[in-house]
Amino acid sequence: MTGPSNGAGKSGPSAVVVGSGFGGLALAVRLQSAGFSTTLIEKRDKPGGRAYVYEDQGFTFDAGPTVITDPDSLEELFAASGRRMADYVELLPVSPFYQLRWEDGVSFDYVNDQESLDRQIAALNPADVAGYRRFLAYSKEVYHEGYEKLGTVPFLSFRDMIRAGPQLARLQAWRSVYAKVSEFIEEEHLRQAFSFHSLLVGGNPFATSSIYALIHALERKGGVWFPRGGTGALVRGLVRLFEEIGGRIELSAEVAKIEIESGRAKAVLLKDGRRFAADVVASNADVVHTYDTLLAGNARGKAEAKRLKGRRFSMSLFVIYFGLKTHRPDIQHHTVCFGARYRDLISEIFKGPKLADDFSLYMHNPCVTDPSLAPEGAGSFYVLSPVPHLGNADIDWDVEGPRYRDRILDYLEERYIPNLKADLVTSRIFTPFDFRDELNAHVGSAFSLDPVLTQSAWFRPHNRDRDIANLYLVGAGTHPGAGVPGVIGSAKATAGLMIADAGL
Ligand SMILES: Cc1cc2nc3c(=O)[nH]c(=O)nc-3n(C[C@H](O)[C@H](O)[C@H](O)COP(=O)(O)OP(=O)(O)OC[C@H]3O[C@@H](n4cnc5c(N)ncnc54)[C@H](O)[C@@H]3O)c2cc1C
Repeated sequence: MTGPSNGAGKSGPSAVVVGSGFGGLALAVRLQSAGFSTTLIEKRDKPGGRAYVYEDQGFTFDAGPTVITDPDSLEELFAASGRRMADYVELLPVSPFYQLRWEDGVSFDYVNDQESLDRQIAALNPADVAGYRRFLAYSKEVYHEGYEKLGTVPFLSFRDMIRAGPQLARLQAWRSVYAKVSEFIEEEHLRQAFSFHSLLVGGNPFATSSIYALIHALERKGGVWFPRGGTGALVRGLVRLFEEIGGRIELSAEVAKIEIESGRAKAVLLKDGRRFAADVVASNADVVHTYDTLLAGNARGKAEAKRLKGRRFSMSLFVIYFGLKTHRPDIQHHTVCFGARYRDLISEIFKGPKLADDFSLYMHNPCVTDPSLAPEGAGSFYVLSPVPHLGNADIDWDVEGPRYRDRILDYLEERYIPNLKADLVTSRIFTPFDFRDELNAHVGSAFSLDPVLTQSAWFRPHNRDRDIANLYLVGAGTHPGAGVPGVIGSAKATAGLMIADAGL
């Protein structure tokens, strides 16, 4: 079948966006607002990509992103269609931003209140109060240079990179986040507290550019938020906006191929045989999947897939979603449980070759902010453990998954959630196999290409393909990278190019 015209009666050029992660959704909204007739095509039965939602026995589990930062970038997205975000979704403030807990009993409430931060830092090491202030000043500067100025610039030519060079050099972007934090802060718990953030976007704090220290300033400036009803409510709000402005979304629709004719994308072909002709095509799917599978048989696809497969990919994640009979208000909304080892454990997570015996965990307890996500008096949780990707550790997750789940739940019961297992109503796991098979993620990576400096900005896959002039990319594998603000920024960069190329 040939998908006739896209969109709802608009006569602008037709655009197909493959994949409805936050990047794909944001791009589709911007394109439709700018006058494209846009069709969003998603493999799974629900939109959102990594921000999928599971519903089970009255519990609502956001599958992925839960720490929502930079609300201004979201507001700007709604404003691009002349709408207000508040009419679609309500963002609730989260405080503390995170609670950080260590096995030795140390706990740190990472809040947006300088006095409280100073007090907690002084209790661990008085000299670090002044050091923290210098770190914050550095973080603000990289935020300005790296995020505000360059976050939504499509790095298409090496000239763009050279232009950014002096700032990157001045900010010592070649140093790692941890090395930079350690320049300002002496105490080890505090070094971990101010360096773990790059893990949230798939970066190893010991290898990722210190530019990623900007996340700290981004959080201090814009706050940490949670949509009422969960992250899924933000996805639903964007889908509603997209449909209201005339966009069309196809779910349970897996793209098998992007058809190229005379060097231009012509259509996308679905596994079920449907065909959607398009003037322009953008892929929000994994970058290796896009080139290797969707462009299979095309010389450019083959060459780029080969090149990308040789790059470094960020780690995978193992996630347990679980519902408890009881609400546990003593566990903060965002809780990071550091294990005894930091540097060595992270090295094993990024390099493999096996699953470590210990772990560092992130725990999500959204009912602290929004009790509606579980039946009355109950609690909806998830816990995630960063694990090596499938290219670095040959683990049979069908066998290891249930075992690993039990190990993590035992650990949580022993240290953080007494009676967890007696209170357990439901649980499900998501393993590196699921990242690979459900999300088509290369080697099951949770965050795509590792955001080291040599794979960032111009060195990341570009927002427009080098040779196929009407084929674009958006999402975690492109500039600026993973994380909700990252992919929302990449959608702005890609949309800017597509709109300019179409002369709209
Ligand atoms: C467990 C977890 C927790 C996270 N927590 C946070 C957080 O707290 N804060 C934060 O900012 N970030 C967080 N992140 C990172 C963030 O979620 C991602 O970087 C971001 O959502 C990725 O968006 P994306 O646009 O790249 O698309 P993705 O979400 O990767 O979506 C891509 C979509 O493409 C679809 N697709 C793939 N192949 C095809 C095909 N052939 N045909 C049709 N559709 C296809 C997939 O089904 C998927 O829906 C987290 C990630 C994970 C996994």
